[in-house]
Amino acid sequence: MIPSFLILGGGISGLSAAWFLRKRYPDAKITLLEKESQLGGKIGSCRHSDFFFEKGPRTFSAARSKHLLALIREMDLEEQILYASARAKKRYLWVDGALRSPLSFWKELLVALLKEPFQAHGTEEDESIASFATRRFGSFIAKTVVDPIALGIYGANVEELSMRSCFPTLFFRERTKSLLPLFFRKSPAGNLFTLRDGMELLIQRLAQRAKINIHLGHEVTKLNSQGAVANGNLFSADHILSALPLAVIGRLTGLWPQVRSVDLVVAHLAYENAPLPKEGFGYLVPGKEKESLLGMIWESSLFPEQSPAHITRVTGILRQGDASLLQEAMKRHLSFSSKPFFSSSALIREALPLFFVGYHKHLSSFLEKSSVSLLGNYIDNPSVDGCIARSLAVVEKI
Ligand SMILES: Cc1cc2nc3c(=O)[nH]c(=O)nc-3n(C[C@H](O)[C@H](O)[C@H](O)COP(=O)(O)OP(=O)(O)OC[C@H]3O[C@@H](n4cnc5c(N)ncnc54)[C@H](O)[C@@H]3O)c2cc1C
Repeated sequence: MIPSFLILGGGISGLSAAWFLRKRYPDAKITLLEKESQLGGKIGSCRHSDFFFEKGPRTFSAARSKHLLALIREMDLEEQILYASARAKKRYLWVDGALRSPLSFWKELLVALLKEPFQAHGTEEDESIASFATRRFGSFIAKTVVDPIALGIYGANVEELSMRSCFPTLFFRERTKSLLPLFFRKSPAGNLFTLRDGMELLIQRLAQRAKINIHLGHEVTKLNSQGAVANGNLFSADHILSALPLAVIGRLTGLWPQVRSVDLVVAHLAYENAPLPKEGFGYLVPGKEKESLLGMIWESSLFPEQSPAHITRVTGILRQGDASLLQEAMKRHLSFSSKPFFSSSALIREALPLFFVGYHKHLSSFLEKSSVSLLGNYIDNPSVDGCIARSLAVVEKI
């Protein structure tokens, strides 16, 4: 008998699952329901005549993107891989009214690292990143260096975030061993990369090649043992896979109705003939600075090939506000007061799940009780690579 599959949600999790299913079951009937009028979920771009900005994910570490790279190759998009410019190796932190290289804190870092092997090991079932980092490296490093890194990845402060859910390898290692050797390990070769013409390409290629029935503008409003209801119609299949955001699938199943998520604003500015005073990836802002801006990416320094040489592009990730706040940060942090000829901003509701302390217990109970297969950025790792890896693992078990 020909198997049938129903995928809910058309972001990278849903589309990569569709592709893996198609490879495994060439004749299967695969249907995908997507609420919006386009596919991609968090992936998408904001296009202008001769440049574009990514609305969501844009940078991937080659060393940590095995699944994403494999998918890019399978979609014949290898020639689209664009590595970050060597200039992007420079990164900054906005601390005490100045942009500083993390190495400017070398004295504090050295003292923290020398003391680290002698600190007591953790015994709690989970703890906040703030508590973990303070225990191992002291309060200064926790607040100045660790906090902005966590904010940049998870969009929330270290006091709120779970060490066990955000950095499980470090969490478990620290129970018995020092973390010091990790700082001297040569990081695996490979740079940051993106897709030259935008991450949307991967989405389009997956949708074309998976050969599935896609229903756009279909918001799933009910989920029961018979199937999923969208636009008043019941869609059923032998197997249902949810690639919906946690907040949505948590509500629909009734198994996790009160999910905590992080809302973010992504703002873009473009300038003509106004080069930035600094070069590099950009900078992060520790929570102790009490700014709405979490970080700024100097796009034209990071991936200069993505826009003409006379265009300067920057992206800001903010807790709230809009592009005017980013412009204000450009002035205050970089003494850059040129007027942008392009600006845009978008509020992304439920941009990322909040990995609060104790999250792992709720997640494992959810995974155990759910009658549909669960995919998405809230399970193993919120990166695009992590989403693809999860989709592959689930499809391989079907
Ligand atoms: C601003 C930002 C920057 C990021 N940068 C990076 C980065 O540089 N590198 C990286 O690796 N990761 C990054 N991430 C994380 C990564 O982009 C996401 O974790 C990943 O794209 C999530 O994919 P997904 O398919 O699981 O979920 P989503 O992309 O959220 O897809 C879920 C889909 O479900 C649909 N949907 C929702 N409700 C319903 C419903 N009721 N019925 C039907 N459909 C529904 C949505 O419209 C959406 O299309 C970033 C995330 C954000 C927000």
